[in-house]
Amino acid sequence: MYHYETHLHTFPVSKCAKATVREQLNFYRNEGFDGVFITNHFLDGNVNVDKTLPYARQLEFYLSDYFEAKKLEEEMGLSVFFGVELSQQRTDFLVYGLDPDWYRRHPEVAVMEKSDLLPYLMEAGALVIHAHPFRVGKGIKVLRLYPWAVHGAEVFNACRTDHENEMAALFVKHYDLIPFAGSDIHAPARMTNLGGMETDSPLIDEKDFVRRVLEKTAVPFSCPVKHREEQPL
Ligand SMILES: [Zn+2]
Ligand SMILES: [Zn+2]
Repeated sequence: MYHYETHLHTFPVSKCAKATVREQLNFYRNEGFDGVFITNHFLDGNVNVDKTLPYARQLEFYLSDYFEAKKLEEEMGLSVFFGVELSQQRTDFLVYGLDPDWYRRHPEVAVMEKSDLLPYLMEAGALVIHAHPFRVGKGIKVLRLYPWAVHGAEVFNACRTDHENEMAALFVKHYDLIPFAGSDIHAPARMTNLGGMETDSPLIDEKDFVRRVLEKTAVPFSCPVKHREEQPL
C-alpha cells in the first residue's frame, strides 16, 4: 500500500508552522511515506505575507514553499503534490486538484464568500474537504458546518482529540460524505500519530488523487510516529 500525507504546513509560508520544507520532507521520508501534499494556509488564513500587497505577489510567496518542495522531490524520494487550506474565521477547508496556474488565473478566490467559493471550486474540478470540522479551542467560538459545500471531511486529524474525530465521523456518516484523514502537521516534534490517505498503487498527480478519493479507492489511515527521537524541533 502507498501512504500520502494530505495536510501539511511549512515555514515560512504558514506563520504557525515550525518546520521548513526540507525538515518536513525529511521527516516523512524517515516515516516511510510515499508522498505529501503541501497544504499551507491560503491568503485568507495564517499566511506569513503582507496582506496589503496585490494578489499576484501574495500568491507567488504563497506558492514558494510548494515549489521548493517540488524541487526536492527526487533528492528526498517522495512525491510532492499541491493543495490549499482555506479559512473562514478558523473554519478550514482543504482543496486539491487545482494547480498553481489555476490560482494565478483566478484572483476572485481571495474575495469570494466561502459559501459561494466552495461550490465554485468544486465546479472547477476541485476536491473540497472540511478540515477538522469539530475542532474547538482558543479563539473558536462557533462551529460552522458546510455539509452541502464539501465532498468529505477529516474523520481523523492527527492533531485533534478522539472526541472531535468521532464527532466528525458521525457527521460524515449522517451526511453521506467521504471520510478523509490527514495530520495537520506544523512541526514533527509535536506529533505522536500521523494520518493520511492510502492507495493500492502510486498516485500519478493531484487529479488522480481527486478521482480516487471520490471513488473511495483512496482511503483514510492513521499510524504512530516511528522515529520521535530523531525529529527536529
Ligand atoms: Zn496552522
Ligand atoms: Zn492545517
